[in-house]
Amino acid sequence: MSDLHKEKWEACLKVIKDNISLQAFKTWFSPIVPVKIEGDNLTIQVPSHFFYEWLEEHYIGLLKKVIKKELGPNGRLEYSIVMENNTSNSTPYTVKLPASNLSSVKNAPVNVPLTSNESQIRNPFIIPGLKKVNVESNLNPAYSFENFVEGDCNRLARSAGFAVANKPGGTAFNPLLIYGGVGLGKTHLAHAIGIGIKNQFPNKTVLYVGSEKFAHQFIDAIQNGTTNDFIHFYQMMDVLIIDDVQFFSGKEKTQDVFFHIFNHLHQNGKQIILTSDKPPVEMQNMEQRLLSRFKWGLSADLQAPDLETRIAILEKKMYGNGIDLPREVVEYLAYSINTNIREMEGALTSLIAQASLNKKAITLDLARQMIDKFVKNTAREVSIEYIQKVVCDYFDLEIEILKSKTRKREVVQARQIAMFFSKKMTKSSLANIGAHCGGKDHATVLHACRTVSNLSDTDKQFKIYLSDLEKRLSMQ
Ligand code: ADP
Ligand code: MG
Repeated sequence: MSDLHKEKWEACLKVIKDNISLQAFKTWFSPIVPVKIEGDNLTIQVPSHFFYEWLEEHYIGLLKKVIKKELGPNGRLEYSIVMENNTSNSTPYTVKLPASNLSSVKNAPVNVPLTSNESQIRNPFIIPGLKKVNVESNLNPAYSFENFVEGDCNRLARSAGFAVANKPGGTAFNPLLIYGGVGLGKTHLAHAIGIGIKNQFPNKTVLYVGSEKFAHQFIDAIQNGTTNDFIHFYQMMDVLIIDDVQFFSGKEKTQDVFFHIFNHLHQNGKQIILTSDKPPVEMQNMEQRLLSRFKWGLSADLQAPDLETRIAILEKKMYGNGIDLPREVVEYLAYSINTNIREMEGALTSLIAQASLNKKAITLDLARQMIDKFVKNTAREVSIEYIQKVVCDYFDLEIEILKSKTRKREVVQARQIAMFFSKKMTKSSLANIGAHCGGKDHATVLHACRTVSNLSDTDKQFKIYLSDLEKRLSMQ
């Protein structure tokens, strides 16, 4: 095989070198290996898809020019890309890039023999003199996997996190993006991964940082003229955890610098863990190239936990604090606060504080009073049983009678009202509501709901009943 491809590429490099900074040249051109030349087609091998994208974004004008100069007006460039993710069976694939139309990129069959392996490509980022020592990881030991209760709501995110903790940078989950609403455990899980890694690989440099802090550090670095140090510091990490990346939205410069750091880490097989309050598709004012990278690995969401998981979380927390609460209180807490774990834990903490300050036993009543004050604005889960109980208390009926098949007028009415509120305030199906109210079918429940709403339009006293009950139910 002739060495024409090498010669041609060498000639290209000469021109390129004169046109860009040395650092850029080392970073983006030294690792390239010329593979072959066929007619007017020169194939070069690049270490990753990311690398190829980077060339395309930043150097395409230059590349076009030099290719035309060295190969003639019909000169074309093709890329052979070494598969990423550090799997041992990495196969290269080819992206054909006609130098005249670089926006249409297609994957072509794998047909390019590898002429070198990745390990021969030297790392252009290694900065002499910078040692990986004494980086404070900022991990909170309380936020461990052991303290993280598993449930349907977090199964995927938790197990992906666990996999990452056991093999940082060595799974397909890079970056691992954990997203979900406020107080659902993103920060906890992110720490747990970091702790897991530190436990198993004490020599790895792990850093947890909130995105706000990152952004502030960056601004300081700009002001102090130490941007390079800032970048080098972050590029030194084996594992970088950035919490709440949605905070980067609208901050172009910060996104830009993070993009560089991300690229460097990812390309060197370092693990990146991100959290966000929303999935990448919903992030606003975030650069497309950054969003596309967020999607490279795995985006796993945290849902609001179900009742059992909430109870388990409270129990774990009590156990951790050496506290024992009556089961009914725990259930009540878990039942009443269902959208935010932090809020639920907060309620538990203030309940305990209240009780010890006032030297009161923690009873269901105390819990009720407290929760009322604590979570005014939280949507609460109301159960059919609870509605039945409130309605029966109000009309002074036995709950068993309501659930029976009796046709007594006042019972029928109370039953209908209970059905009405069950339909309105729970997510239960009509059939399920019927089953709870004396074994009625869904048509009966529907009829009851219509009757109640008609009556409330025509009967003043009835309307007062309803608004009284509604108040009681929403107060819990
Ligand atoms: P986020 O970062 O999503 O807003 P956090 O990670 O700060 O939420 O979690 C809020 C609180 O809830 C923390 O005290 C955390 O320990 C707790 N928590 C969340 N999920 C779980 C879980 N699955 N098991 C135990 N505690 C949890
Ligand atoms: Mg958080």
